[in-house]
Formats: sequence, C-alpha cells, structure tokens
Amino acid sequence: MDTLLKVMNINKSFGGVKALSDISFEIYKGEKVSLVGENGSGKSTIIKIISGILAPDSGSITIGSVTKKVFTPKESIKAGVQVIYQDFSLYPNLTVCENIANGYFLSNKKFFVSYKKMQEIAKESLDKVKLNIPLKAIANSLTTAQRQMVAISKCLLENAKIIIMDEATTALTQKEIKNLINIIEGLQSSGISVIFVSHKIEEIKAVSDRC
Ligand code: ADP
Ligand code: MG
Repeated sequence: MDTLLKVMNINKSFGGVKALSDISFEIYKGEKVSLVGENGSGKSTIIKIISGILAPDSGSITIGSVTKKVFTPKESIKAGVQVIYQDFSLYPNLTVCENIANGYFLSNKKFFVSYKKMQEIAKESLDKVKLNIPLKAIANSLTTAQRQMVAISKCLLENAKIIIMDEATTALTQKEIKNLINIIEGLQSSGISVIFVSHKIEEIKAVSDRC
C-alpha cells in the first residue's frame, strides 16, 4: 500500500507539559483512520504539527515524498494535507460561493476574479459532496452540517490527499453524522485518506478502517 503520511518519533512539550511522547504512525492512500484518545492526550497537537502550525521538538514527518522535521502550513497544504477544524474556518458573512472560491483564487494567485467562474467552481465543488444549497446563501445562515460540507468541498478544491477532521461530529445530529460517514466513504473511494479525530467509540467503529 502507498504510504501518504508517516509520523516518526515525534516529541512535543509545552513548558513542563509533555504533550507528545515518541509518537509514530503511518497513513496509507485511501484509508480511513481514527485518532483516538482522551481529552488532553495530544490529538490536536499532532494534527497541528502535521499541518505545519506547530513545530515538534524532535522527530520527523513524511508527507508524500517529502520528509522534514518542520513543515510550514503552505508546504503541508501543497503536499495535500487539509484540516477541517471544529469551527470550519468559513467567513460567516460571505456567501457559500465566495467562501468556496476565494481559497481557490488565492492559491492559484488570481487576484481578479470573475463571478461567473466563481459560481462554476463553487457549484462543481458542492456537487462532489452532494450538497444542494443556494450559492448565494450566507455562510452564517447554514446549519452546522451544511457548513461542514462547504468546508469539505473547499478541501477538495485544494487537491487534498489527506483530510483531517478534528472532533468533527461534536455539533451534529445522528442523521447528519450518518451523512458525514457517507461522504467520508465517498472520499475514500476517490483515493483520499481521512483522519478522523474522535473519542466516541460508536462513530470510530462506523467511520474507520483502523484506529
Ligand atoms: P487533545 O486534542 O487530545 O484533547 P491537545 O493536543 O489539545 O489534546 O493537548 C495535549 C496537551 O498539551 C494538553 O495537556 C494541553 O493542555 C497541552 N497544550 C496543547 N496546546 C498547548 C499550548 N498551546 N500551550 C500549552 N499547552 C498546550
Ligand atoms: Mg483536540
């Protein structure tokens, strides 16, 4: 199996608190893996190291074919890592269309944008997560689950190879969780790996191949 991500012997302390102690694991292409542990066990910290937000004290990370001790956020994104945080990182007062397309235009260094092109991009991207909402809807007016789907569709536009969801189901209903699980299965069948961070055992069993 192709290894997409390899975390090797990572250590990280915050002052006197040892958050990560010699952490190693691998994620393969198209795998759904849960990262499990009680509150404070270091799940968010390892995600921040993979996505380049924090630097480890020691150890190394391989994303695709690149091995480094410290990735910058830009390098991590370029290598295909996308993180969906609990707040989904959307602009609350912008439309769905603007939220989805702005990342695309920025990362492709296009500073003059056509609204028609934005709409095409947003529509195509929403279709991939089977979300049928008006492109002109303001992000703030959507349900939590809809905002999450918008966030996932944004990741797909950035050519994500690994999508990491940190405590993704906290604010979802049972039905919305089922839908999220379907979407995760769809991502997997298109070769994307998903790291699902959770401490709810039923979801972990439903979502992941391995934990
Ligand atoms: P989890 O996501 O598994 O709940 P975290 O990665 O958030 O755990 O936290 C791991 C440990 O590191 C905890 O003891 C937490 O208090 C500590 N920690 C996390 N981030 C910081 C920080 N920026 N400054 C100081 N301590 C931190
Ligand atoms: Mg956390």
